[in-house]
Formats: sequence, C-alpha cells, structure tokens
Amino acid sequence: MKTPKQSVLPLPAWLSANSGLVKACQPQPLSTPRLALFNQPLADTIDWPSGFDTTPATLLQYLSGHQNWPGFSPVSLGYAGHQFGIFAAQLGDGRAHIIARLQATQRRYELQLKGSGTTPWTLSGDGRLPLSAALREYIYSEALTGLGIPVTGAFAVVTSATRLQRNPAEPAAILARLSASHLRIGTLEWLALRQDWPSMDSIVMGLHKRPVGSPLLNYAGWYCDLCQRLARLGGSWMSAGFVHGVLNTDNISLVGETLDLGPCAFIDIFDPNACFSAVDAAGRYRFAAQPHALFWALNKLAQCIAQRLSFASAQQPELKARLDAELEKVKHALSAFSPTLESIWLAGLSQRLGLVAADEKAHKLCQAWLSLLQDNKVDYHRAFDELYTWLSQGKVTALKPAWLSTTKAGLWLHEYQQADPDLAMMRKANPSFSPRLGWVDMLVRQACENDDFSNIERFVSACRQPFTKPPALWQHQAALRPKGLQRTFCGT
Ligand code: AMP
Ligand code: MG
Repeated sequence: MKTPKQSVLPLPAWLSANSGLVKACQPQPLSTPRLALFNQPLADTIDWPSGFDTTPATLLQYLSGHQNWPGFSPVSLGYAGHQFGIFAAQLGDGRAHIIARLQATQRRYELQLKGSGTTPWTLSGDGRLPLSAALREYIYSEALTGLGIPVTGAFAVVTSATRLQRNPAEPAAILARLSASHLRIGTLEWLALRQDWPSMDSIVMGLHKRPVGSPLLNYAGWYCDLCQRLARLGGSWMSAGFVHGVLNTDNISLVGETLDLGPCAFIDIFDPNACFSAVDAAGRYRFAAQPHALFWALNKLAQCIAQRLSFASAQQPELKARLDAELEKVKHALSAFSPTLESIWLAGLSQRLGLVAADEKAHKLCQAWLSLLQDNKVDYHRAFDELYTWLSQGKVTALKPAWLSTTKAGLWLHEYQQADPDLAMMRKANPSFSPRLGWVDMLVRQACENDDFSNIERFVSACRQPFTKPPALWQHQAALRPKGLQRTFCGT
C-alpha cells in the first residue's frame, strides 16, 4: 500500500504537549474481526490521499487494532469529571485509542476506537465494548446526524470472535468514531486539578475558532462560543425529544457535539420526567433536566477557567484588571446560557408547530402544547403528525384525535389557529421517522443473536433520512411500545 506523506496528519501540537494528558499506547487487537457496519457516506466525505487503500479489508486491519495507521502512533487521553455530581479525579480513555487524524472538506477529524483494549488510564474493566453498545451508539449517532444535530460521527462497528463476560455474554466489538476533538469538559477539570496551565492554555487556543496571540485572552471568547454551541445542541435535543442519559462533565464535548451515546433514547409518550438510564435512579439526567445539566457542567468549566485566570493574576498583577474583565465575560456567557437554550428549544418547537413568528405568543403556545401532550400521555412524534394531518385535511371532525378534542385542547386549538400556522413549515420541520427505543432494542438484540446486521443497515438508512417516509414497519403509526419499564444501559 502506498503511504503518501500527506496522509500522515499528526496530533495537533496542543495535544502533544508534555502534560501527561496524552499517553502513547497500543490497541489490543480483536480476534477474528469482521466489519459489521461501515459508514460509506461518512467515508466518502474524507479527503483520502491518492493511493491510500480504503478497501474494507485494509481498513479493518486498522479498525480492529491489528495494525497501526501508517505514520501514526495511537494515544489515549486522560480526563477527570463530575459523575452524577461527584468529582472523579482520574478517569480517562479506559477503553479508547485515537489511531489517526483524517482530513475532510474544511475540517480535520480524529479517528478514535472505542473498545480497543485497556490503556494506562484503565481503572477497572476489560477495556472492551459489547457489540450491543457499539451498535446502539452507531444507530443514535446516525439518527442525530440525520436530524442535523451535531454528534461524533459513527464510522464503523467491528465485531469479533471474542466473547465478553456480560449478562448475557456478547461479542467484543469496536466502534470507530470521528470527531474534530474528543476533549471534554473533564479534560480541563483534569488539567485544573494539576494546575497544568500551559496545557490548558494551548488546548483553549487550539480549540478557539478565532485565536488571539496572548493565550490568556482566548478563554472568554472560546467559552462564549462553547456556550452558544451547547445551547444550540441542548435546544435541538429538546425539540427533537432526545435524552442523552448521562450528562456527566466527562461526557460533554469541548467542541459542542453530542458525545458518548450510552443510555440515550428518544422519548415516545411525552413526559418531562422521561428517564431511561438504568444507572440514573434519581432521574438527574431526565429529559427536562438536560438544560440544567448542561448549565451545571458549564459552571464547572467556568470554575476551571476562573482558577486559571486568578493564578495568572497572582503571578502577573499588571494583568489583573484585564483578566478580571475576561472572567466577567465568562460569567455573563454562563448566565445567558439557559435563556439562550430555552429560546432555541422554543424556536425549534415553533417551527414544528408552523408558528412563523416564534415570538412570545408562539412560545406560550409551545409550552401549552407540551402540557397538553403530557396531560394526555400523547406520543411526542406522532402528535405533530396528527395535528398536521387534521389541519391539512380541512379539520374534518372525524380525523380529530381524541386528545385534541378535550376542552383544554379546544382552547389551545382556538389560540393556535389564530396564529395562522404555516403547514408547509410544519411539514418541513417534522420528521416522518424517529428511532423508537423499542425498535432499536429489538434490532440490536436480533443482530447480536443472529450475527446479521442487514436489518440495522436498513434502519440506519431510515435514520439518515428522517424527513422521508420510512417503510410502513417504522412509521409513527406503527410505533412499537415495549411493555413494562424501558431501560437503557451504559454498555460498560
Ligand atoms: P462511559 O460510561 O463510556 O462514559 O465510561 C466512563 C469511564 O469508564 C471512562 O473512563 C471509560 O473509559 C471507563 N470504562 C467504561 N467501560 C470500561 C471497560 N469495559 N473497561 C475499561 N474502562 C471502561
Ligand atoms: Mg464517557
């Protein structure tokens, strides 16, 4: 295989810093690896150097840990993090390796393997990822991408002959994923704990879209940008009905993408308290708590920045006034975060309801709509569909769903119709397909049992085009509601 020089993109300098944050370590190969899923559309966006062999058989050697990417030495990253509100000083990639950097149009990606064996950061555990968890992360990553919501890109799932001691036993798998950066809020918590300011400065400068010369003067601008991105991300999750499930600070990306899709799900019956994660008994990360969870995490990040800036002020008193002003900007960005997220959420909902103005009145209608869905235990995705169908077919009484026929709903409909909803806008804003938890669970279970990934491929195709009517089996009307409590798992 030819390995042209330009195929080797090293890690950025700010990750090679001599901080102890980045450790060189080898993936541990999977036995008898096989590509279960490969994301050809994503692979097609990569600007492969001419002559680079991208046949699946060759890529599999890299993606299964059997061979190093030409010219790149794998690394794992350290991080800390607040997990369910409690600080864990030493986490890190306990089962993940960055194995390459790739160039795509106007962006660069890190290619990371998850489930590729133990690393110097492993505390406990076998360093492996069960196949079911890899398949789930792949599906949800594609579903969010289909909805236009930023998320780490699912590149491939590799399955193997190795069985993991889980309940039930499962094949060991590797999920290969792409991101501009796998750094998390927990990364800066790790550095702040060690007062490793040079590494923190270079990371913040490296991530900042418009870096300025003096490292200390990048913190506020970068933090404001991240607040904006996470407000957009959180607002999009909320209007899409997505529950991340484990919003610990080590699972919140410093580039504003959805990261670490473990016990996540899309809600079906609308309930602000919807919480699927088996490890979240108290519902800390339930659907309606997500905006606050992001705010809470950003507050922890602001504390790291405050520590860094106050250290610099003590060292260089002549900078104090300037750095105090920077810190004020950080505080201001944090206090603007929740209102910004809420207005993005409500703007998304306004579109789904065809409310062009997205003004105060529209926001009130959105809130009343959600309470209507909650009171009547209505399926979130189907509700927009039913409202649209009834409106677009001339408000025929026979087509009016029962939950829209109550007195409360009547009052809401009256106000809503006065706002003159735009049906074309509604049609564009409402997906025809949502990856129901019941379907995902069933498909993943069957794929693991039968070692056959063809139905998941079909399902992922529907995820990629959520605004196109899916096969009848997966339409809103056919939503499969599993009996009993629905639970999702971290897949550790
Ligand atoms: P996660 O639930 O994937 O966000 O993981 C939380 C922490 O546990 C991270 O530091 C992981 O690297 C680590 N971890 C999870 N599962 C395993 C495993 N099977 N082996 C080693 N480390 C793990
Ligand atoms: Mg994680």
